[in-house]
Amino acid sequence: MFTPVTRCWICGASDLTPYHTLRFELDTYRSGDQDHELADYSGQFLELMRCGRCGFGQPSALPTLPRYFDRLYDQWWDETWVAHEFEAGYKDFIFRSILRALERHVESGGRRLLDVGAHAGRFLHLARQAGWDGEGIELNPRTAAYAASRTGLPVHQMNAQAFADRGRQYDAVVLTDVLEHIPEPIALLTTLASLTRVGGILAVKVPCGRSQVIKERVLAAVSSHRVTLADNLVHVNHFSPRSLKLALERAGFSAIVGPAAPELRSLRPPSLPALASNALRLATYGLACLPGAVETPLALNLQAYGVRQPV
Ligand SMILES: [Zn+2]
Repeated sequence: MFTPVTRCWICGASDLTPYHTLRFELDTYRSGDQDHELADYSGQFLELMRCGRCGFGQPSALPTLPRYFDRLYDQWWDETWVAHEFEAGYKDFIFRSILRALERHVESGGRRLLDVGAHAGRFLHLARQAGWDGEGIELNPRTAAYAASRTGLPVHQMNAQAFADRGRQYDAVVLTDVLEHIPEPIALLTTLASLTRVGGILAVKVPCGRSQVIKERVLAAVSSHRVTLADNLVHVNHFSPRSLKLALERAGFSAIVGPAAPELRSLRPPSLPALASNALRLATYGLACLPGAVETPLALNLQAYGVRQPV
């Protein structure tokens, strides 16, 4: 059912040590006419392995089932949920901080922006408000169609490689909460390099592998929470700041990596738990922004910016 992964996807080292056992629980795909081959993975286990050289974490093997990852995500999108993803605004603080950073980089330069994995189109909507000439690519037909109709912007329903073959280039390319889901991530980053003009900028946001392990273990210690880092391989890439920087460099960018802004809960209507949760998240983020603190568990997510280098 699996093909072993024996070398680090980022630096190529074979010094890999197990640090977490992940489970497959896919019984929901067994009901009715859903995906029985996918459901057959239920009850299987894999290890997450950490690279001794660059700190990257990845699974010990990958499923041999064709299109495993497409099939895993195929079932999730319900129309009401997609509309909610556009309206909710829980990632607006992240999106606005990315737009401010892109603004600082391009200054008076070009305004062509590509959002890779545009989802329901919320980021494109905010980017257009901020004066960007936005475009998106999105694999899922339902979210792609929704994003296009809500934003009035082109959202192409295709993968990054097929889109890159068209030869277009952008001043800014954005990849938020996507890269952690894609095996062998340097291939996608290299494709994105071909979509970024020389001197243009790539923004990548991912969870920080080691910090998420610590957060999950703390939660498990103080509650009935079970550590769920990568069950069903929902997350296949577990970056350290160092491995994320190295991944961008190997794809053709000069990179800086810092903590990413947090998701925030809606305060409409205002509620004390939401306010307290947001205060905690903002305080943690503020501390993670202190010099050197990106290497500590305070940095729960990482935000990298890479400037495309001449070939
Ligand atoms: Zn490595």
